[in-house]
Amino acid sequence: MTATTLTRPEATLPAEVLAQIQQVVGATYVTTLPADMAGRVADHRGLYQGHALALVRPGSTAEVAAVMRLCHAARLPVVPQGGNTGLVGGSVPRDAVILATDRLTAIRDRDPLNSTMTVEAGCLLLTIQQTAEEMDRLFPLSLASEGSCQIGGNLATNAGGTAVLRYGTTRELVLGLEVVLPDGEILSDLTGLRKNNTGYDLRHLFIGSEGTLGIITAAVLKLHPRPARRATAMVGCADPEAALALYDRMRARDADSLTTFEYIDRTALQMVVDHGPGCSDPMAERHQAYALVELTAPDPEADLDARLEHTLGAAFEAGDIADAVLASSEAQRAALWALRENLAEVQKAEGASIKHDVAVPVSRVAEFIAAARQGCLALMPTARVCAFGHFGDGNIHFNLSRPLDMTDAEFLTRTEAVNRVVHDIVVAMGGSISAEHGIGLTRRAELRHYKDPVALRVMEGIKAALDPLGLMNPGKLL
Ligand code: FAD
Repeated sequence: MTATTLTRPEATLPAEVLAQIQQVVGATYVTTLPADMAGRVADHRGLYQGHALALVRPGSTAEVAAVMRLCHAARLPVVPQGGNTGLVGGSVPRDAVILATDRLTAIRDRDPLNSTMTVEAGCLLLTIQQTAEEMDRLFPLSLASEGSCQIGGNLATNAGGTAVLRYGTTRELVLGLEVVLPDGEILSDLTGLRKNNTGYDLRHLFIGSEGTLGIITAAVLKLHPRPARRATAMVGCADPEAALALYDRMRARDADSLTTFEYIDRTALQMVVDHGPGCSDPMAERHQAYALVELTAPDPEADLDARLEHTLGAAFEAGDIADAVLASSEAQRAALWALRENLAEVQKAEGASIKHDVAVPVSRVAEFIAAARQGCLALMPTARVCAFGHFGDGNIHFNLSRPLDMTDAEFLTRTEAVNRVVHDIVVAMGGSISAEHGIGLTRRAELRHYKDPVALRVMEGIKAALDPLGLMNPGKLL
């Protein structure tokens, strides 16, 4: 696959600004050498090749503010970068200074009684989950990239993941924020309050803003009780409609403990069985649709296995499901989860793919999968539809893998036509063209096409108010 090049190699950082930035953060933490920035100028999917003026790695909020003041004075564009695991090219520099947050790793405060933790933006999501566990609490945000993505990136993208059904998106897991504004001012709103009606709730402006309004440097995160019991199963269904019937049954009976309801179609399952490290088919028979379901409870006495068995038994009797495998050990649970967690990566082994991260009302999710499949196959009859995702949130990763009779390049010339088919269906169903990955570079043109013009104007007004010089992550989102 060839990456789109965004470079203008003649753009460089003026020597006097480099010297000033070096004074602020120390020469060790600034580089302009292409070799040192190699892993930072392209995106995770290999879709974009950017160009950076410098890589700067401040060690504190005060240093971030000082660097921003210098860049603002010199009119230099800045792109914030966390783990660079984003899937829409949002952290790729376009002749900008990369401001990396990987040295902002302090856990500033732990307050188990208030169920909060104050963390700096560069903390890995995995570290935050582990710290919450040490406090006998849960930080429920969970993504397959959790070992590499940082909480600042999670906040900037309003990341979703596999526990949204129970706990909500990142937006719902934050009580306060600290942000360095484009001109270097520090907006400090690190409150741990559940109630605070003192005007506009500014944290929600920055959550999901994809680095276009300021640099998030710290956050107060909301913690939950730590689950003591879990019951996990992979369920085989005849089709997405049957999976929806199972979902409805579980919501009615197990809503208080249902944490995960993830969908995997047969093509996706086959890809992960073929290419996922240590992955194997969980069932003897093949099914068109699979659901990974999990119940959790903080009560150590809760008999969740019996409860899940009972619900799945009733679903089997009703003809909603064809087969189920219940995990009877932690190793079995991990093996079932590996089938889901490796999906984003294994598609690469099957050649190029055209991906969509869409949301529709949960009631229409099966209808969407059928309609989008039909629409795409009408356009390209040999395309391989690979659909999976957060079914219980109405969020499907509706992906197409290159047909076996086509080259990657030939297949990718169809991207725009395929996107139009899928996104027209989504929008007609009252859905969203980006459920959790954001807009970045990849979806910018489509945001213009589909978003309500009044909403777009309000967004542009907010951008102009906070970043009148347009220096924060230019060319992304808007
Ligand atoms: P980056 O990629 O570095 O940046 C993402 C965006 O945020 C950019 O626009 C950047 O400029 C901005 N940004 C970063 N840090 C800051 C900051 N401190 N202040 C302001 N702006 C900032 N996403 C999901 O939502 N759900 C999933 O289930 C999911 N699964 C994934 C699985 C895999 C295998 C991979 C590779 C990715 C997955 N993602 C998923 C996407 C990605 O991991 C998330 O978008 C994540 O939140 C990005 O975090 P990051 O630290 O890597 O951010």
